[in-house]
Amino acid sequence: MRKIQAKQVPFMILATKKQPLKREPSMTETVYTLDLNFQNHHDAIASFLIPYSGGAILVESGPGSTIEGLQAGLTAHGYKVSDVTHLLLTHIHLDHAGAAGWLARHGAEVYVHPVGAPHMIDPSKLIASATRIYQEDMDRLWGEFLAVPEAQIHIPEDGETIKIGDAEFVAHYTPGHAEHHIAYGYGNLVFSGDVGGVRMPSCSYVRLPLVPPELHLGKWQASLELLLEKGYQRIAPTHFGIFDDAEAHIQNGLAVVQSTEKWLAEIMPSEPNTAELGKKFAALMEAEADAAGLSPQERETYELANPLHMAATGMARYWKKFKTTL
Ligand SMILES: [Zn+2]
Repeated sequence: MRKIQAKQVPFMILATKKQPLKREPSMTETVYTLDLNFQNHHDAIASFLIPYSGGAILVESGPGSTIEGLQAGLTAHGYKVSDVTHLLLTHIHLDHAGAAGWLARHGAEVYVHPVGAPHMIDPSKLIASATRIYQEDMDRLWGEFLAVPEAQIHIPEDGETIKIGDAEFVAHYTPGHAEHHIAYGYGNLVFSGDVGGVRMPSCSYVRLPLVPPELHLGKWQASLELLLEKGYQRIAPTHFGIFDDAEAHIQNGLAVVQSTEKWLAEIMPSEPNTAELGKKFAALMEAEADAAGLSPQERETYELANPLHMAATGMARYWKKFKTTL
């Protein structure tokens, strides 16, 4: 398996066999992975930079705590924050969308799912619920979450083609991780947000961020099947990077969705409390990490990008809401 270290090397979309590329790749066919250096860790949270005729487009802003990393990434590629004219958000979780308001203040137009849009315009509920979870760590982890002015919000429809200058994206509504999740197609590449799971650059191991309150494994499966059907060749999960084996990656994700569903069906009838479920799930993840041959550092980065403590609550809620007939 080959992977691209897109942090250093621009990613060029390859022509399909049917339509050989007869011209020089244009600006719009380059995607750079910006490593936001979340909590001083490489490979945890990415923002993707797409140069185009009118400046720069970003997919994901990252959290408010990594604005410095975002600026450094833009500078490294010769851009200023004010060159970012458009921001495409896969969903509104803090690690993906926290700095959207800050980018909007510098002029960026923001694309987001209709269910997520109100929370970008008024993030008070989002901030309150995150503060309940993270408490005194809130600011250190996530920084400031500024509102996006309504006039700068754009809501693509499912399947809509978004044209920005000479760049074109396709919005795919892809629930499962969150109801309001969009994956964006860009040529033969798909920006998979969190629905494509978490995968470190040196690995083929895909782990799913199973977070409350909207986790739905059935919808997750349908979303991955949709991306598979679209035939993307490359996949760019926000955690982390660009991989050139989209089909195998998505198949791995589908296998994890199915094995998680099966595992829950075995575990949940004994009605474990959240702590017990969390413990069993941590043991399962440890066994998977062993099987995948992950190094201690890789395990740490998987954990940072996708903290396991959220999973038990997410799975318990999913099970209670959708899988129990009582
Ligand atoms: Zn995430």
